[in-house]
Amino acid sequence: MKAVYPGSFDPITNGHLDIIERAAGLCDELVVSVAVNIEKTPLFSVPERVDMLREVCAPYKNVKIDHFHGLLVDYVEGIGAQAIVRGLRAVSDFDFEFQMALMNKRLKPAVETVFLPAASDNMFISSSLLKELSKFDAPIKDLVPPSVEERLKAKLRKDNR
Ligand code: ADP
Repeated sequence: MKAVYPGSFDPITNGHLDIIERAAGLCDELVVSVAVNIEKTPLFSVPERVDMLREVCAPYKNVKIDHFHGLLVDYVEGIGAQAIVRGLRAVSDFDFEFQMALMNKRLKPAVETVFLPAASDNMFISSSLLKELSKFDAPIKDLVPPSVEERLKAKLRKDNR
């Protein structure tokens, strides 16, 4: 099975990485793909997010990194994948994720959504909280891969100049 793990990944966290590792173990090929969303104002550009994902996912041989515009199900079908992977942290994720999964099923019945529960240690990690913490120089060492911690610090230093 070929699956797509879509998201903003602004930036990738240990929570995302755990989902990537577990999903990669379940499928033949996993495409982690940055969704280009014109309604969100990201901290990192699409090429920066793709770069960080490439660095961090290098050890996983069946994981590829990509980005996409437009409708997720069209992209999934276009690259010949059969499933969408999403991580669920808490009940608060559920409503939105379930709605998306049902809508995607309606649009493309052949594409399945697979939910993986967040690891209990990662339940509270989100990219937005991380960005907030880094702005105030709070420690984020155990929440993101080391290369991402460096990039976040550098980015915020530059933005504060
Ligand atoms: P999006 O804007 O699509 O929600 P995110 O990058 O925030 O993009 O998240 C991508 C996916 O990863 C979503 O399915 C989200 O629920 C999941 N996710 C985010 N943080 C975690 C975490 N700490 N543990 C497990 N899954 C997570």
